[in-house]
Amino acid sequence: MAFNLPELPYAKNALEPYISEKTIEFHYGKHHKTYVEKTNDLIKGTEFENASLEDIIRKADGGIFNNGAQIWNHTFYFSQFNPNGQKEPQGELKEAITKKFGSFEAFKEEFSKAAATLFGSGWAWLVKNQNNELEIVQASNAVNPLRDGKKPLLTCDVWEHAYYLDKQNARPKYVEDFWKIVDWKVISDRFAE
Ligand code: MN
Repeated sequence: MAFNLPELPYAKNALEPYISEKTIEFHYGKHHKTYVEKTNDLIKGTEFENASLEDIIRKADGGIFNNGAQIWNHTFYFSQFNPNGQKEPQGELKEAITKKFGSFEAFKEEFSKAAATLFGSGWAWLVKNQNNELEIVQASNAVNPLRDGKKPLLTCDVWEHAYYLDKQNARPKYVEDFWKIVDWKVISDRFAE
């Protein structure tokens, strides 16, 4: 069973000026697409030929893990944005964030720091851990917290391909703009699932 590149839930220019159409064309149209194509090539004739992406993330290694996890990570990343979305968490998610981090502002500061200071390529994640507590995780390359039994809620891609066309080396500026397009309704739905 081959994987497909999922449709974006918005137009390619919808996230401007925070993420440009050009970045979406490369990040989604080339990088995300290539992860799909490489995974489909690599799984042929292996035990993962009919596996779900979640199974690949939990069990695969090497190229199959790297490319398969990157499909999941990018689909999760792109689907959490909406220029007209809910700007702050509400209800139970807001309560959980306040309980763990003190306030939404304090959470954003801590998450931004995790994203900005991650060395090299990777992802900053907000997850719900096995004790149902929120946690911020720094992960290198394609690593996804599902592998450790944690439930991803929000992610920030800090590979240079996510921001270099728009921000060059200024990763903190990319992270600052990231907050302006996260739709907290999507994150709340993930938290409630
Ligand atoms: Mn990426």
